[in-house]
Amino acid sequence: MDKTFEPGALLYACTGALIGIFATLMVPPVGVPHFPGAITPLSLTSLAEEVTLAEPDPISWTEDVQGVARAAMGLAVHTVKVRGGDTLADVLVKAGIDRAAAFGAVEAIGGVYNLKKLQVGQELELTYDALGTTGEATPLAAVNFETAPGRSISVTRKDDGTFGAEEILAITRREFVRGEGTITSTLFESAADEGIPVEVMTAMVKLFSYDVDFQRDIQRGDKFAVMFEHTVTDDGRPVRNLDIRYASMTLSGTLLKFYAFRQDDGSIDYYTDKGEGIRKALMRTPVNGATLTSSFGMRRHPILGYSLMHRGVDFGAPAGTPIMAAGDGVIEKRERNASYGNYIRIRHASGYATAYGHMSRFATEFTAGKRVRQGQIIGFVGATGRATGPHLHFEIMQNAKQVNPISVKFPSSEKLAGATLAKFKRVQAEADQAFAGLDKSSDLAGALEPPTAAP
Ligand SMILES: [Zn+2]
Repeated sequence: MDKTFEPGALLYACTGALIGIFATLMVPPVGVPHFPGAITPLSLTSLAEEVTLAEPDPISWTEDVQGVARAAMGLAVHTVKVRGGDTLADVLVKAGIDRAAAFGAVEAIGGVYNLKKLQVGQELELTYDALGTTGEATPLAAVNFETAPGRSISVTRKDDGTFGAEEILAITRREFVRGEGTITSTLFESAADEGIPVEVMTAMVKLFSYDVDFQRDIQRGDKFAVMFEHTVTDDGRPVRNLDIRYASMTLSGTLLKFYAFRQDDGSIDYYTDKGEGIRKALMRTPVNGATLTSSFGMRRHPILGYSLMHRGVDFGAPAGTPIMAAGDGVIEKRERNASYGNYIRIRHASGYATAYGHMSRFATEFTAGKRVRQGQIIGFVGATGRATGPHLHFEIMQNAKQVNPISVKFPSSEKLAGATLAKFKRVQAEADQAFAGLDKSSDLAGALEPPTAAP
C-alpha cells in the first residue's frame, strides 16, 4: 500500500459541477486534535454484542454537500492507518474518538462494507468538527477510506448525531492503452514486463487460439501488441480493464492482426484485417494443456512395430482430462471401436467430421444423434483400445478423408461483406489511428498494479 490517500477522491459522489466548486474548499490535513481522557480500546466482538446493526439511512446529496461545506468552514482532517491486531473501532478510539461515536461510525460502515475485509495498512481519513458546535468531547464529523481504486466508503455524522455510510464510486473515464513487446521468455512473462495485465493477456491468447498453437508456435523474438480500453480514476489509477480493441502477433515473421467490431446486437466480435471472423469452424487441439506426442503421417507404430500411416494426431494428457467437441455438429458415432477404444465421431458442416479415440469414458449427455456445440465436453482422455498410455487420438476428416489437423486450412466461420465490411474498414482505420497515436505502454508504466505471476 504505497498510495497516498486523496481527500479529493471522496467528493466524487457530488456531481461534476459540485466537484469543481468544492474540491477547492478542502482543507489540508492537520495534526490530530488532542482529546483528554483515557480511552479503553474496543474490540469488534464486544461491539457486535452491544450494537444492533441496522441499515443506515443513505446520505442524501444535500447532506454530502453540507459536509463539504463544513469542511470549508474549518474541519480538521487527519489520516490514520489500521495496524495489526486493531479493529476499526480500535483505530477510531486510538485516534481520540469517543466510544459512542466510534460505535455509531462502525455500525454505519458495517451496513455498507464487510469489515472483515479491512486490511492492515488501510488508511482512514478522519474529519473532526474543529468548531465543536455540538459540544462533544470528540466531535467526529466523517470517516472516509478507499477500499479499491475508485471505490470508497464515506461515513458522515448527521444532524441528529447518528452516522450514515455509503459506498462511493469515483467518476472514472475510459481510455485506450497500448502495450507491446518482444517475447524474450514466455509470452506472459514478456507481457508482464511491459505492464500488460494478465487478464488482458489471457483474453488475447483466447483470441489467437484458433490460429496460433501457443505451445509450439511461439518463438523468442516474436512480437505482440495490444490496445485495450480501461477505466481510470481522475488521478489516473486503473479501475477496470475493458475490451481489447486491437491485437497483433508477429510469429516467425508472419503478422496477424485482429480488430474488435461491434455487431448490431451490441456484442463484440473480432476480425482479421481482411474482415474474416477469427473464430474457426474447428479447433485444432480439442484438449487443454496437452502436448503433441505423435504427428500425422507415416510412423513406426509403437505397439505393432511396423510402419503405418498415422491418420490423426496424438495429444498426450493425463487420464481424465476433458476432451472438447472441436466444432458444432452432431454426434455420429459413440462406440467401442476396436483399436480406437472408446470412440466418438462428430459430423460438422461443410463436409468436415472429427474423431476422438482412446477415451477413458464418454460424457453421459452426448449420445449418438445429439447435437453438440464447439467446446462442450464429450469425453475424457484414456488409454482404451490400442494405446501405450493415456492420450487423445484426434482425426479431422474432410469429405471422408483424414487430413492433418495441425496444417489443414479452415475457412473462417464468417466473412464481412458489403456495407458491414465498409463499416468494419472504418472501425479498423480508427483503431489503427488510435494505436499509432498512443505512446507505447504510455499509461502502463507505474500506473498499473504490479502484474501478478503468469498462470
Ligand atoms: Zn493416434
